[in-house]
Amino acid sequence: MSEPGLTLSVVIPMYNEEQVVPLLIERLRPALDGIGEPYEVVAVDDGSHDATYAVLLGVRRTWPQLRIVRLRRNSGHQAALNAGLMLSRGAYVASIDADLQDPPEKIPEMLELARAQGLDIVYGVRSDRGTDTAFKRLTAGFYYRLMRRLVGRNVPSQGGDFRLLSRTTVEALRELPERAPVLRLLVPWIGFPSGQVSYVREERAAGSTKYPLRKMIILAVDSITNFSAAPLRLATWLGISGMALCAALVVSGLVAYARGSVVPGWSSLFLAVLFLGAIQLLCLGLLGEYIGRLYTAVQNRPAYFIASDTEEQVAGPRVPASRTSVENSVQERIGL
Ligand code: UDP
Ligand code: MG
Repeated sequence: MSEPGLTLSVVIPMYNEEQVVPLLIERLRPALDGIGEPYEVVAVDDGSHDATYAVLLGVRRTWPQLRIVRLRRNSGHQAALNAGLMLSRGAYVASIDADLQDPPEKIPEMLELARAQGLDIVYGVRSDRGTDTAFKRLTAGFYYRLMRRLVGRNVPSQGGDFRLLSRTTVEALRELPERAPVLRLLVPWIGFPSGQVSYVREERAAGSTKYPLRKMIILAVDSITNFSAAPLRLATWLGISGMALCAALVVSGLVAYARGSVVPGWSSLFLAVLFLGAIQLLCLGLLGEYIGRLYTAVQNRPAYFIASDTEEQVAGPRVPASRTSVENSVQERIGL
């Protein structure tokens, strides 16, 4: 759904970023104006509780290229990013965090590289994470090593969600059935011709991180289960080794019985019961993770609901305020 003549869309998910927005606009606007071609900025307000939306509306008065999409509730970084991507119309679509950790000045460079070499994907790759906390660096390092094993070598080891995609890539992503895609893995998985632009990760310009440990763990578990059945295999291996160990215990039990020293065997029996119980619970948990995801996939619920979109207001009539187009299509499908 590209719009002819529109070169670039820039998608920015925002959650409670009222402090950052003015700083971001101050740097983003000159960078994009400098390209000298038509562009749009798609700011996705991910159900913020602060004045993010009001601040954005204020900016839009003097910056008509700013499109503001508001989600009905906080749906998470990946869902917000995906909403913006699906609504974008440019021939190229860049995504960037709101907090200025990724420099907006790199976007023209990404565009230039994509055009010069005919690339579909340009990753922003962090050359230095010096400003991130040691904990973040450690967990991120572990996460990317694991993801490279699961998804393949295409995954840039220090890539986040700062990247540029061609229209073809965005359309390919749209075709995928996933409702809650982990874009930083799906994009490398698509595997279209790609290049990299490296940048220094800066410190968050204002406010605090919107990615607490809880959300990081959810992202990691989603990433693993989206791309691999390896954890299920782990359950099988644990089961096999547990059985081998039990066989050994059975033999030693029989020997103890033959020798007539049965009562002292209590501790090994106790350990075996504990061990088996633990393995069974672990395997049940793993099965549960996947069954839960199958269930969610079968329900096929949208990952986000759009509450308003400045572009739709301009374009003409909208669906009744209480229902958005996404909700309508969902409700039609489930027969309401
Ligand atoms: N974000 C979002 N929804 C959320 C959490 C975060 O849209 O539920 C946005 C946030 O506003 C920012 C980006 O995602 O633009 C990355 O978040 P953050 O900078 O807090 O993550 P960190 O850099 O600490 O990993
Ligand atoms: Mg950040």
